Amino acid sequence: MARYTGAVCKLCRREGKKLFLKGERCYTGKCAIDRRNYAPGQHGQGRKKSSEYGTQLRAKQTARRYYGINESQFSKYFEMAEKQAGMTGENLLRICESRLDNIVYLLGWASSRAEARQLVTHGHFQVNGRKVDIPSYLCKAGEVLSIKKESLDSEKFKAVLEANASRPVPQWLETASETHTAKIVALPERDQILVPVEEHLIVEFYSK
Ligand code: SF4
Repeated sequence: MARYTGAVCKLCRREGKKLFLKGERCYTGKCAIDRRNYAPGQHGQGRKKSSEYGTQLRAKQTARRYYGINESQFSKYFEMAEKQAGMTGENLLRICESRLDNIVYLLGWASSRAEARQLVTHGHFQVNGRKVDIPSYLCKAGEVLSIKKESLDSEKFKAVLEANASRPVPQWLETASETHTAKIVALPERDQILVPVEEHLIVEFYSK
């Protein structure tokens, strides 16, 4: 399935939540959710009621869009989550969090998950010292991520790091800013995952 290339703020307005898809702008008063928090389109301000199915669908779409994952990949993650021990919904979110593009974003090595995906594809990062250019690579506890030495010489890359230096990094990631490396201490617990979604609704969506 093709990746969505339209206006990303519309996705937040559709979900009625900040999905942080646009980098720095999301943290300013220019955010479309702060200015027009209603669904896009002619009838956007009129749509309020939602069926049970609609609520479950919105939860699934919120999580999918937050991480920038397409439908088929997301449903594959759900199948993986079902096979793991523990709560399926939590497992699903943990799988999404462990994607390399997501972790690059969380580390402040990119301004948005979309930018992180692009930078990963361009081969700027290593996992345990080896180049990994697959944004969907699922990282594991104990792995060490780093920025390629040559990439650090790029002015553009330096500007990205500087712009995101003050963004807090989650506790499950241990950073060493002087070496531009980060260790995954452990994959996150549910209370460390910030996606604005009730995951049981996603489980209900796929259980129909
Ligand atoms: Fe746009 Fe970011 Fe606000 Fe979403 S959170 S509406 S992407 S500025």
